[in-house]
Amino acid sequence: MRTIDVSEITKAVKGLCIDANYTLSPDMKDAICKAEQNEESELGRKIFSQLQENLKIAKEENIPICQDTGMAVFFVNIGQDVHLEGGDATDAINEGVRQGYIDGYLRKSVVKDPLIRENTGDNTPAVIHYNIVPGENVEITIAPKGFGSENMSKIYMLKPADGINGVKDAIVAAVKEAGPNACPPMVVGVGIGGTFEKCAIMAKEALTRKVGEYSDIQYVKEMEEEVLDRINKTGIGPGGLGGSITALAVNINTYPTHIAGLPVAVNICCHVNRHRSVVV
Ligand code: SF4
Repeated sequence: MRTIDVSEITKAVKGLCIDANYTLSPDMKDAICKAEQNEESELGRKIFSQLQENLKIAKEENIPICQDTGMAVFFVNIGQDVHLEGGDATDAINEGVRQGYIDGYLRKSVVKDPLIRENTGDNTPAVIHYNIVPGENVEITIAPKGFGSENMSKIYMLKPADGINGVKDAIVAAVKEAGPNACPPMVVGVGIGGTFEKCAIMAKEALTRKVGEYSDIQYVKEMEEEVLDRINKTGIGPGGLGGSITALAVNINTYPTHIAGLPVAVNICCHVNRHRSVVV
């Protein structure tokens, strides 16, 4: 049994909030760089070049990549041989968000009540998904989520008879409907199976997978490649201004489901697909 003081979690979360908002992970940077070389439209290539310039400026000047610094979403894997002491773990994560968003000068985008809509002033509370895993570490992944793309995400409760083609069509339909509103080039996270809420969480977690890494299930990998190809043939293009690269990746996660259902969630992310992990 390992004991971890929750103040270490607060410190780690503060750093994650700032890092994830100031710099994209290497997989995303590489994907944007490659896309500039492969984009067929001249205007599209110019947009990819501007996106890279924006990343450079954000890094050099320690400013956020985008003004929408997102709602702070976390996936936290807690080792079952860890004893957390010094306070409540959820409070510790929210304290890290508070410090990170205030000290990092990140936009505060969270309202306390979804209808009364008063800003909480410190970007809390975060949305936190906990998993219990073997081991004596705590792995924290942050994925700050902008809502231009979040608002274009979809859940489909398909019928089993809709099959694999129905799933592929649903993903492409969600992307087409999102169009320029999702700030393309997009990364498309997909969850297939489970229940209504499980597929949505899987779709969100799929966005934290590195761009360029595929599912290790062969037929799912083939689906990721085929659907990406279909999305790129829509011609939406970078910035929604036309082109051959609308998405940088389609990442699909699957889970067993009920005999009577085929839930599919499509969580769309923009080109600012932020994700960072740390092990405490
Ligand atoms: S959707 Fe993404 S790129 Fe567009 S404003 Fe929000 S965070 Fe920024």
